[in-house]
Amino acid sequence: MMKHVTGARCLKCARLWPAKPSLTTCPDCGGLLDIEYDYDAIRWELNRNTLSARRELSMWRYLEFLPVEGIGRRPRLRVGWSPLYEAEGLARKLGLSRLFIKDDGVNPTASLKDRASAMAVVKAEEAGAEVIACSSTGNAASSLAGNAAAAGFPTYIFVPSRAPKGKVAQLMIFGAHVISVDSSYEDTFKLSQQAIERYGWYNRNAAINPFLMEGKKTVALEIAEQLGWHMPDFVALSVGDGCTIAGVWKGLKDLHATGLIDRLPRLLSVQAEGCCPLNRAIAENKPWEPMEENTLADSIAVGVPRNADKALRAIRESHGVVVNVSDQEILDAAKLLGRTCGVFGEPAGVAGTAGVKKAVEKGLIPAEASVVSIVTGNGLKDTPNAIRAAGEPVRIGPSMDELLAVMERL
Ligand SMILES: *Cc1c(COP(=O)(O)O)cnc(C)c1O
Ligand SMILES: [Zn+2]
Repeated sequence: MMKHVTGARCLKCARLWPAKPSLTTCPDCGGLLDIEYDYDAIRWELNRNTLSARRELSMWRYLEFLPVEGIGRRPRLRVGWSPLYEAEGLARKLGLSRLFIKDDGVNPTASLKDRASAMAVVKAEEAGAEVIACSSTGNAASSLAGNAAAAGFPTYIFVPSRAPKGKVAQLMIFGAHVISVDSSYEDTFKLSQQAIERYGWYNRNAAINPFLMEGKKTVALEIAEQLGWHMPDFVALSVGDGCTIAGVWKGLKDLHATGLIDRLPRLLSVQAEGCCPLNRAIAENKPWEPMEENTLADSIAVGVPRNADKALRAIRESHGVVVNVSDQEILDAAKLLGRTCGVFGEPAGVAGTAGVKKAVEKGLIPAEASVVSIVTGNGLKDTPNAIRAAGEPVRIGPSMDELLAVMERL
């Protein structure tokens, strides 16, 4: 709750600002801001028992850890409290002691981005905004469009024209004003920033808006509670702009600071081989540099990560591990998750699991480790790549003879 927020600290100049709902970057130096809390006050109000008595099964279950006055007065979608499955079969296949799949593809618009968009809508209401805007490779856009539609906010949304049809279809169905830009995500982002400034819209660009990461961190709070507060050795997820991994780390540190968990997991940051500016910076221990956006996993095809500082800090602080996966490894992971867990993820959604497999093979994660792998988006968003991963079905005429002939091959 806002009463627990002590301010928004600049990552660059360390100044602390009042956390006004319309705040974006540091007014002094333009640095990214990080919301800070009074953990002693939270600890006073919240413990494992008070939490377990709560009926709210959504991200708003953790109100004390969120920078909001309340959950607003507008209607909202049910975001969060996604299932955490123990994947015994897949763990055996990968040679891991324990593996859990957190399926965030079951959110209302089918990705983890709903956690940030739900937050954006509540903050837009607090800020008295009338319109919300963002740029996105797809999921931030579709989640904003859906969550804003529920709350009655019009949206302006900028997507690169390569965004998959499924995500663009969501935007159109949710009634967003969509601007599809014939260029990279980088150019799309810049154009949206100019438009937001010019028209005074509420800004749901995740790196620029410090509140959104606070929404995303709820995935970590849920993982901890769903595991009975027994933390895994690693939390694995795919990384694009870096807001999600920074959010996960923030959530874990929040829990640690209030004594709800006594041990912090390490992060496994997974990027695509064809677009891995953050992982490269960690691996080579140097500042990050832009890369081409060369992967079929569109949600993590981010050549110029907008939240690099927070993401790199999170990976380093957690003594994290980085691994890059090829497009083929991503497609294989989609099949593997589907077949062993019944979980259908989009390419960026399953990249984290592809990374777990690779990290175990490379000895970066020991066999006796326990791992939570977050599936960040649903596979129905990108069916062409799902078909690429799993192929087409056999096709026959409506005859038993033809069926008998192909049964051998099935
Ligand atoms: C946005 C997204 C990511 C990466 O999150 P970042 O905050 O950009 O690092 C991963 N997977 C999916 C499905 C996403 O939509
Ligand atoms: Zn500053």
